[in-house]
Amino acid sequence: MAMANSLRYAVPFPIKASSKQPALQLPGVGACAAQHTLPSLKFTARPSFSSPPVVVAAASSTVEAELQSEAASPAKVLPFRVGHGFDLHRLEPGYPLIIGGINIPHDRGCEAHSDGDVLLHCVVDAILGALGLPDIGQIFPDTDPKWKGAASSVFMKEAVRLMHEAGYELGNLDATLILQRPKLSPHKEAIRANLCKLIGADPSVVNLKAKTHEKVDSLGENRSIAAHTVVLLMKK
Ligand SMILES: [Zn+2]
Repeated sequence: MAMANSLRYAVPFPIKASSKQPALQLPGVGACAAQHTLPSLKFTARPSFSSPPVVVAAASSTVEAELQSEAASPAKVLPFRVGHGFDLHRLEPGYPLIIGGINIPHDRGCEAHSDGDVLLHCVVDAILGALGLPDIGQIFPDTDPKWKGAASSVFMKEAVRLMHEAGYELGNLDATLILQRPKLSPHKEAIRANLCKLIGADPSVVNLKAKTHEKVDSLGENRSIAAHTVVLLMKK
C-alpha cells in the first residue's frame, strides 16, 4: 500500500458545532496485525448529510485519492445504521489471551501490535462501519511503536466517542467469538459486563456468543481466534 504522510477523510456525518476539534486528529495506533501503513489520519467534517462533501486538500497520494473518492458518495440522514466487524488473530505461546478487556487463562494468546483483543477490535470495526468510517487498521495504524501493547479499550473509547459525535447511540450489538479452547462460558459474563461498560450500554442490548470451529482449520486447532460483530446504531 502506498504511504501517505497525511490522510484526510470526510466524515459522513455532521460534527456538532460544540465540538472542540473541528478537524479530528487521531493518534496513530497499531490495533491489529493488519498491514495498514498510514501514519496519520485527519477527519474533516461535512456540514450535513444532505450537503455536498467538503472538498479536502488536493490528493497527495493514491490512498488519499481513493478515500476522497469513497467519501464523495452522497450520505443520507438515517434513523438507523448497521455495521459489521470481523477480526482474527493468531494464537501463540507466550502471549496473554485478552478478550473484551478480560484476561483469560490459557496456554497461549494473541500475537499483535496492541493487546490483540479480537473482540474489542471487532466491535470497534462494527461501530466504525456503521458510521461509514474506514476500518480500525486505517484509523489506528500499527506503525507507531508507542502504542505497542496498548489496551484496546483506547480504540473502543474513540469509536464510542465518534458514534456519539455523529449523533448515534447503540441500539443493540450481537457478537460471536470463534475459538476451540479454552471454554468461554466461565468468562462470558465478565466479558459482556466489561463490553457494556466500555460502550456505556445496558446489558440487555449487548449479546455475546461463543462457539468452537469443530477442530477444523487454525481456529479449530487452537492456533487462531476470530470474532464477528453486528451493531445497530440509532439516531439520538
Ligand atoms: Zn485485531
